[in-house]
Formats: sequence, structure tokens, C-alpha cells
Amino acid sequence: MRRPLVATAVAMALTVPLLAATPALADRYDPGSTSGGDPYFPAAGNGGYDVSHYDLGLSYDPATGRLDGTAVISLTATADLDSFSLDLRGLTATSVLVDGKKAGFQQLPPPEDGRGGELVVTTRPKLKAGSTHTVTVVYGGVPGKPEDIEGANYGFVSFADGALVANEPEGASTWYPVNDVPTDKATYDFRITVPEGKTAIANGELVGTPTTSGGRTTFVWRATDPMASYLSTASIGDYTMTTQVGPRGMPIYNFLERDLTASRRATSEASLALQPQMIAFFEGVYGPYPFTSFGAIVDDDSVGYALETQTRPVYSRSATEGTVAHELAHQWVGNSVTPEQWTDIWLNEGFATYSEWLWSESRGGDTVQEQFDAVYATPADDEFWTTPPGDPSPETLFAAATYDRGAAALQALRVAIGDPAFFAVLRAWATENADGNVTTADFVALSERISGQQLDAFFQAWIYAPVKPTTW
Ligand SMILES: [Zn+2]
Repeated sequence: MRRPLVATAVAMALTVPLLAATPALADRYDPGSTSGGDPYFPAAGNGGYDVSHYDLGLSYDPATGRLDGTAVISLTATADLDSFSLDLRGLTATSVLVDGKKAGFQQLPPPEDGRGGELVVTTRPKLKAGSTHTVTVVYGGVPGKPEDIEGANYGFVSFADGALVANEPEGASTWYPVNDVPTDKATYDFRITVPEGKTAIANGELVGTPTTSGGRTTFVWRATDPMASYLSTASIGDYTMTTQVGPRGMPIYNFLERDLTASRRATSEASLALQPQMIAFFEGVYGPYPFTSFGAIVDDDSVGYALETQTRPVYSRSATEGTVAHELAHQWVGNSVTPEQWTDIWLNEGFATYSEWLWSESRGGDTVQEQFDAVYATPADDEFWTTPPGDPSPETLFAAATYDRGAAALQALRVAIGDPAFFAVLRAWATENADGNVTTADFVALSERISGQQLDAFFQAWIYAPVKPTTW
């Protein structure tokens, strides 16, 4: 199913190891790694620094598909660096400044497998570990329709009337220079300029009133909660906005494309009307909603899936009730509490699917146990059981097992340790790890701590074994 991105002879000649093979310099300053170290997506992310803030000035023209950007990135060096790398794919950098001074830079296109794309910045003076810097990158190009490792559209996906932006797992680099790993969370400001009449929507809250000049309108969005890059968005289209009020007066901004069909609009409006009630429900499970706003972007175009973009999920064509519950639950499990590595994707999808089951039961639908039973009825020789949720492989990151077997594992855990311990685990998971990064080992340890039970064999059977669990 995998369709690689364009690979050229030039791309094959300029591979990352060449850079790593540079002889060690006499001083102790070294190039920052061009890998963030993720086992599934080693080309994503980088080493040697930590980003605290992205200020993204973007200008997009749907008629030409051209995106121009100026990214101002605040970072702290975590090693002594004479160069460092940002992920940037398919776009061309024209200028790089470090602390206002012109810096050298080189773009390494993606290697043969199409993953990655590095902007390597050489700095004078060099960066000392612990020092903070501002890196300004001017860049632009035509993102088109980038594809993920499975061949699905992701990143900055252009359509005739705008763009749908959904980056999971490492597609943020298709629209801005970034340390594209879930562990380097940062705050964001977005200033997005589009033709007058279009609406640009990002994460967080709208700042002021959009301003129009010369036939172009600028929308300013501010996301003050730490955010992993895969959860950023800057979707553009023909939207109308409606607002709701969540718990404690929290703003909810909903954007529906004017071109949605009547039935999709009706479905989406009915689902989104439930959002305040859903937030209250999941606060009962996971504790206080972790961010400062919520809402939805319902596009009339499709990438074939919805994504839990932080504070403002994107929906392809329609927002059904189950999907809205799922993407909302991700704000706690996935967005605030984020896997360190993509191997642990079930900590996102198993939990969000389980949350969907809880919501469905609360609405008088199938009980959680009935939904577990339906999954568990899958025959032992079905391919479904061959994908372990705790290590699904990069090509099957979004396999059914990641979602349904992950959720079934949680229900099995609930039966094993009892309701009081199980719900204490869910709440502690969300509150103790808020705004952080986690591993499956962390979840096992928490479950053992709260239940007082030894659960290694349980998690081995449910999360790691490529066979149907029969005893656990
Ligand atoms: Zn999900």
C-alpha cells in the first residue's frame, strides 16, 4: 500500500550519513543529529536543541497552490553545536538568520524512501549548550498533496478551495521548518494570510479581528498550550464560524465549510452540538479538560480520515458523533499525554477508541462490554490478531488493531483490576502526565501501582503478542 514520495538521483546522492561522517572538529562543537531517534520515523526530528515556540507567518493562495512562510523559531541548544537541522520537506528555504545574523544553510532532500528532508543550518557563532536562540527561516513552494508512509494524504494538503492540514505522524515538515517529533512540544503563534473571503483556522484562540488589506485577509491564532508538531493545523477554506461555550466559560469555535452537503451539515451540526456535554463527560473520566479552547474544522474535502489536531480537530466531509467523541477524548489521551515514540500509538488510539465506547454506552448505545465482545469475537486465525498494538510497524500504524485491540486491552484490564482501580488509573494517567510524553512501560507501571497487581503477563498478552489473547 505504500507509495513513496518522489525520489531523485540528487536525493540519493545527498544522504544523511554523509553529514554524520564529517570528521570530528578539533573543538568540541558538533553537528546536531538529523534524526530525532524515533525507531519508525528516524528521518523525522533532530538532535541538539529543544524548541519552545514557533511563530509562523504564512501566506497561501489556493489558485496557485503556493505557500510562502516566515518561521521564527525560539530554541535552546542542548549540546554545543556548530550546525543543527530542521525538518523541511518539498519547500525551498531562501534565507536563514540565527539571532538576526545571516547563517549558512543547505537543504538535503528526502532520501530514496521519501521520508525526511533536512534544512541544515551552520551557525557563526556556534551555539553553546543551554543558550537560547531565535532562528528565522524564509521559505516557500507548492506543497501539493503530500503522502504519508501508507500513501494517505497528510501534511499541508491543497484543494481547489483551500487546504486541509493534518500532520500525523511526521507531516508538519510539509509546511514549516520543524523539529518534527512528538517529544519536542512548543507553543505557537500563527499569522495566516489568504485571499479575502477565505478563512484560515489554526490551533488555540483567534487573536483580535481578522484584518483585510489589498484583497487579502490575515487571521491571527495563538496556541499557548504546549503542542506536538503533528497536532498543529492551518486549514484554509470557505468556512462559517459558530461558537459554543464549554465548561467554565471555555470558548468552542466550530468551522463548517459552506459547500457541505445538506445531510453532512445536519450530521455534523448534530454531533458538534453535543460537544459541551461530551467535554463534561470526559472530564468525569480523565479530569479537567487540558487546554484553553476546543472546536472543530469540518472540510468539504477529504483526506479520508479525521485528526485530533490540538484544540480543533479536523473532519473530512462529516463529523459523526462517535468521531467527535473520539477526537475530543484525544485532547487528554494523545495531545496532553503524548507517546514518546510512534511504536506506542495504541496509547493514542486504544484510549480514544475506548473513550468512544464509554460515550456510546452513556448515550444508551452498546455497552463497553458488548463492544469488547464484538472485537473479541474476531476468530483467532484472523489477521487482526497478528498486529500487536504495542509495536504495529510504521506501515500499519493505523491498523484496526491499534484502535480496537488497544481498546479491548483496556476493557480486559478493567475486568482484571476492577472498576475503582481502572478508573483511578485513567484519571491518574491524564493528570499526572499532563503536557508530557509517555511510554507503554509508564502505563504498565501506573496500572501496577494503583491496582497492586503484577501485570507484565497481562500486557504481554494484550499489547505485545501477535496472537489472540486467550489467558491473561
Ligand atoms: Zn484517534
